[in-house]
Order: sequence, then structure tokens, then C-alpha cells
Amino acid sequence: MEFRIGNGYDVHALAKGLPMWLCGIRIDSETGFVAHSDGDVAIHALCDALLGALALGDIGHLFPDTSDEWKGIDSKILLERVVHLVHTGGWKISNVDITIALQRPKLAPHILRMRQTLAPILGIGTDAVSVKATTTERLGFVGREEGCEVWASTIIFK
Ligand code: MG
Repeated sequence: MEFRIGNGYDVHALAKGLPMWLCGIRIDSETGFVAHSDGDVAIHALCDALLGALALGDIGHLFPDTSDEWKGIDSKILLERVVHLVHTGGWKISNVDITIALQRPKLAPHILRMRQTLAPILGIGTDAVSVKATTTERLGFVGREEGCEVWASTIIFK
């Protein structure tokens, strides 16, 4: 059996009055993400982890933010396309692990629905989809509520 590991990282700035999408679900929040797409920074980091495992570049390369095709797009569609690339290569996803650094709002009540939303897109069980959230104890740009930072890891195999 052959294994590959991938990791991804993304940051989006926060602004008042914009929608906040994270891991494919809408989060009730006064602030949301400034972005060309729907701004789902967690899905973007996850796409980069999968693309990293495939050594196929990054999400900005695949879906350029200069293209109108991706303007305001639901990031779940981007993830579906990346998962298609995984499967096309004969790979299966073993698991994913996502860490979201956000000062506010608290994400704990949303974690299960995030995992349940991502699992069918990834073609794996909810038990293989980990989503964790942390604040940064008010330190740095996350702590100042200027943005959100996400790390994602995955293992794929064939
Ligand atoms: Mg992004």
C-alpha cells in the first residue's frame, strides 16, 4: 500500500456584515470573511492539504481568484472537484484533521455539523473527519478578531 501525507494552511480577513462559512456550514456571526469565493477558509486549507498529498499545486492555482467562474462560489463545490482529483488518481482519503483558530464566535456548538457536512463530500465516515477549534488567547491578528487561520492535514492511500 502507498501512502501520502498532505497539509494545508489558509487565512482570511474578517469584516463586519459578511457571511461566515466554515467547513461548509453558515455560522451565525457579526463578522464574516473577505474573499473571492464564499470565503470558507477551512475548506480552502483542506483542499490545499489534499492537493499537497497529490503534489498538484494549490487551490489558487486550480481556481484562480481572477476568474469570474469562481466568484462567490460555494467552497463545497471546490472541495468536490479536489476530491474528484484524488479519486481520479486512484487514491482514497484515510482521514482529515482540521484546526481552526478564531477568537469569536465559539465554534464548539457547530463542530459535529461541520464534520457531518464534510464527510460525505470526502467519501469517508464522520469518525475520520476531525475538526478542532481554538482561540489564540487574544494574541495576534486572530486574537484581535482581524482574521481566521486554519491548518488541515490528510493522509491518502492506494
Ligand atoms: Mg482562501
